[in-house]
Amino acid sequence: MVTKEQILQWLQTFATEIEQNKDYLTELDAAIGDADHGINMDRGFKKVISQLPSVADKDIGSILKTVSMTLISSIGGASGPLYGTFFLRASTTVAGKQELTEDDLHGMLKAGLDGVLGRGKAQLGDKTMLDALSPAVTAFGQAVGEGNSTLEAMQRAVAAGEQGMKDTTPMIAKKGRASYLGERSVGHQDPGATSSYLMLKSLLTVLESFS
Ligand code: ADP
Ligand code: MG
Repeated sequence: MVTKEQILQWLQTFATEIEQNKDYLTELDAAIGDADHGINMDRGFKKVISQLPSVADKDIGSILKTVSMTLISSIGGASGPLYGTFFLRASTTVAGKQELTEDDLHGMLKAGLDGVLGRGKAQLGDKTMLDALSPAVTAFGQAVGEGNSTLEAMQRAVAAGEQGMKDTTPMIAKKGRASYLGERSVGHQDPGATSSYLMLKSLLTVLESFS
């Protein structure tokens, strides 16, 4: 089970990770984009954190919907609509819930992933956040299907997401600003895949702290 309290802590932990990795994410984006990914994400998640107290007594779906709206309205650039869509689609699957089973969490992450796929129209291997998110969600679903706990499934998801993030380095970018560089995008890790890995790792950190 994942409680609402853990979801709130996840968002807080992710915001802190983003703040601590702001310069790193921006450096990654400087190499293949326009050097603003850390700045964008930090601005968006600072705003999210300022909004959380006003929705903390609501259900998980309402909380994630607020995250989505806040990100869409406060982040310019590709990552605002993409992360906004992730949280919007995730929120609809958990509407009204105060806690999540492992199947609920899988459904939530899968819906978020499908939202990013639909919105950004990138494919696996295009060197985007999907290359971290997709293998992580697949690994989570597989682990749950094999009867593992949420914590064990999340450990596998984060390992798969980390590998997916690292695997973006040799890829040629096919979507977003980095795609303008073509072959010159090779040899750099994708910033969005890196922030997505941090998002998954933050959830694991929270689950581990409660176990
Ligand atoms: P911008 O590219 O507008 O400056 P950011 O720098 O905040 O926005 O985000 C860049 C990240 O967005 C990329 O590293 C990539 O992971 C992600 N991204 C860009 N386009 C897409 C897309 N079509 N689908 C999925 N992710 C994308
Ligand atoms: Mg950028």
